[in-house]
This record gives sequence, C-alpha cells and structure tokens, in this order.
Amino acid sequence: MIGTREVDALVVGAGQAGLSTSYHLRRLGVRHLVLDGNDGPGGAWRHRWPSLRLGKVHGIHDLPGLALGHADDDRPASEVVADYFATYERRFDLPVLRPVRVRAVREGEGGRLLVRTDHGDWAARALVNATGTWDRPFWPRYPGQDTFTGRQLHTADYLGPEEFAGRHVVVVGGGASAVQQLAEISEVTSTTWVTRRPPVWHERFDQEAGRAAVALVDQRVRAGLPPASVVSVTGLGLTPQVLAARERGVLTRLPVFDRITPEGVAWDDGRFVRAEVILWATGFRAAIDHLAPLHLRGPGGGIVMDGTRVVADARLHLVGYGPSASTIGATRAGREAARAIAALLRDESGIRTPA
Ligand SMILES: Cc1cc2nc3c(=O)[nH]c(=O)nc-3n(C[C@H](O)[C@H](O)[C@H](O)COP(=O)(O)OP(=O)(O)OC[C@H]3O[C@@H](n4cnc5c(N)ncnc54)[C@H](O)[C@@H]3O)c2cc1C
Repeated sequence: MIGTREVDALVVGAGQAGLSTSYHLRRLGVRHLVLDGNDGPGGAWRHRWPSLRLGKVHGIHDLPGLALGHADDDRPASEVVADYFATYERRFDLPVLRPVRVRAVREGEGGRLLVRTDHGDWAARALVNATGTWDRPFWPRYPGQDTFTGRQLHTADYLGPEEFAGRHVVVVGGGASAVQQLAEISEVTSTTWVTRRPPVWHERFDQEAGRAAVALVDQRVRAGLPPASVVSVTGLGLTPQVLAARERGVLTRLPVFDRITPEGVAWDDGRFVRAEVILWATGFRAAIDHLAPLHLRGPGGGIVMDGTRVVADARLHLVGYGPSASTIGATRAGREAARAIAALLRDESGIRTPA
C-alpha cells in the first residue's frame, strides 16, 4: 500500500491544456506531475473517430515551443495528434504518469489538496484541472427514447459512416461534430438532420469573431454560469466537405422531434421519420465530477472563475474549461495558470527546482 505522496503542483489531464501547463511549469521550475487517465499520449484526440482528418476540423493550435508542422491529411487526426503529443512529452521531458485516473479531489491536511486516484493518493499545494470534456458525452432525454428498437450512439462512439449503409440515420445536434458526421454519413446512406436552433454558418472565420465568441463564454464563467462550448458560439464553418453536403441537399434541418417511437422519431404536428439509427451529436460537458467534494459550484450552476483561477480557491485552476476550451485557448491558459501557480508557491515558501 503506497502512502500519500507529496508534490508541489499536480496537473490532471495530458491533452493540449495539460501539456501546455506542464511545459510552462517546467520552465518556471515548479516541481509537478501530470496525471493522465489515457493509456497513451494524445488527450481526447486519441479517441476521435478514424475518418476525422485535421483538414476537416477547425485546426489545431501549436503547443508552446514545438510546432506540429505539416500534417499528413491521409492519416487520421487521432494518430497525427497522438504522435505530436508523444514527441512533445519526450522533447520537453514532461513528467506525465499514465494511466492514472483521478477519482476525487478533496481538502487535505496542512492546506494541501488530497487527490485520490486509481493508483494511490497525492497531496498537492496547487492543482490544475485539464480534463477536457470527452469523458462526459451529453445525452439529452426525450420521451420514448428507451422504446427505440434501432441503434442509438453518441459522437464519442462514432467510428465512421460505413456501418450505417442501408439504414436511415437521424443526426441530432447543431455543432461542428454533427455537421461533419452528417456530411460523411450522407455519402453512404439517407439521413435526417434535427437541431434545436437554426444553424448559423460563417463563410470565413476571422479572429474578431473568435475573440467575440471567447469573450461571451468568459462572461458566463465569471458570472458562475455553466460554460457554453466556444465552438457552439463561433458558428459553423463552410468547409469544402460541408459545401458538398449542401449541394447534395442534406443540410436541410428540421426542429428536434418531440418523441421517439420504436420505429423512428415523431413530431406533435403529425410528422414521422422512420429510422434505424439515432446519432446523438449533442456535445459534451466539462469532465469535472472528481472536483465535486470541493463544492465549487455556485447557485448559477457553474464555477465562478477569474481567468483560469477558481475564485473560491486560489490553489485551483481550470485550463481548457469555458473560454479556454479550444486548442488556442488551452495553450494560452496553460501559461496563465502556470505563472499564477509559480507565484502562489513562491509567496508561500520559495520555489524548488524540479527533482
Ligand atoms: C469532436 C471534437 C472536435 C474538436 N475539434 C477542435 C478543433 O478542430 N480545434 C480546436 O481548437 N478545438 C477542437 N475541439 C475542442 C477540443 O476538445 C479542445 O480544443 C482541446 O483539444 C481539448 O484539450 P484539453 O486538453 O482541454 O482536453 P482533452 O484533449 O480532452 O484532454 C483531457 C485529458 O484528461 C484526461 N482525463 C480526463 N479526466 C481525467 C481524470 N479524472 N483523471 C485523469 N485524467 C483525466 C483524459 O484522459 C485526456 O487525456 C474539438 C472537440 C471535439 C469534441
């Protein structure tokens, strides 16, 4: 049985957010560890569906200090990013331990945070949570859902369009993943697309629109509201794949059905669509259940934030959360959190160099 190990700072998660934070903590001389639940490098990208190519996504921002460079568009994004992150971890000798899954973070002794994992406990003076959203797919509930005799799956379970050939697929959701998966599936079979709100398309996504979207999410988390996804407020890009789908007429959307029946989906106005598959491309929520023992959520349902810092607890930073839930945001937020933690530890007792 291992006793509780002490460390100055812990980073939970080794995706874009966690690696960026670790890079800066190392440069600042902060003794730390990164605990990652995955069994290899790549963060959530490791699990993205095999047909996803980097050319089809918004784009990956470089991690600090090492550019991704030209990415081969014939290889799945999951492999390209996993290789990039693996090289990155080695190049900067980042102290990543995996697979280690954090189960709970609670108040420990002597002002430390006690971090319970499936590989023993750590006591840390500061913690950066960088656990992303992939581990918490969001499934909405609709009447009759359990009676459906076809297959229901979430974006997180999607492997590619081939398995749906010959079956009618209802795609639920108005985000980027919904559109990408709808475009692919509609190349091999018939589809129906349903979204809660009419989609907003943008011809060209410029920096100003990006900044405005991030500012909107930032306002929400400063006010203690649950964050909206940054991608959800940026609108949908008209990529060549999307334009081709529009040409084929598959981007005509319906409002979300009112009910699910054993054979399909139904609206109260009498419309009915027979379907064999419902794909819930309904997004993800922040994977922060392990922080629940700290009781950080306020009356607004979210955690009140000031930049990356949790207002109620200066030892805690959330990176890749709310306004920093994009590869560019996570990269910048990692630097902000690392600097704040270095300053906090310096103020407490003077900083130590890495072991
Ligand atoms: C389908 C999809 C496509 C996207 N495309 C883009 C894009 O093109 N461009 C863009 O900028 N953004 C995109 N995003 C947003 C994207 O998720 C973020 O930009 C970024 O990759 C997230 O990085 P992260 O480090 O915050 O999280 P992740 O990459 O999810 O990494 C989190 C890590 O934490 C680990 N972890 C989780 N819980 C625990 C735990 N309890 N204990 C230990 N480890 C844990 C996970 O195993 C994982 O390794 C996309 C999101 C989705 C869902």
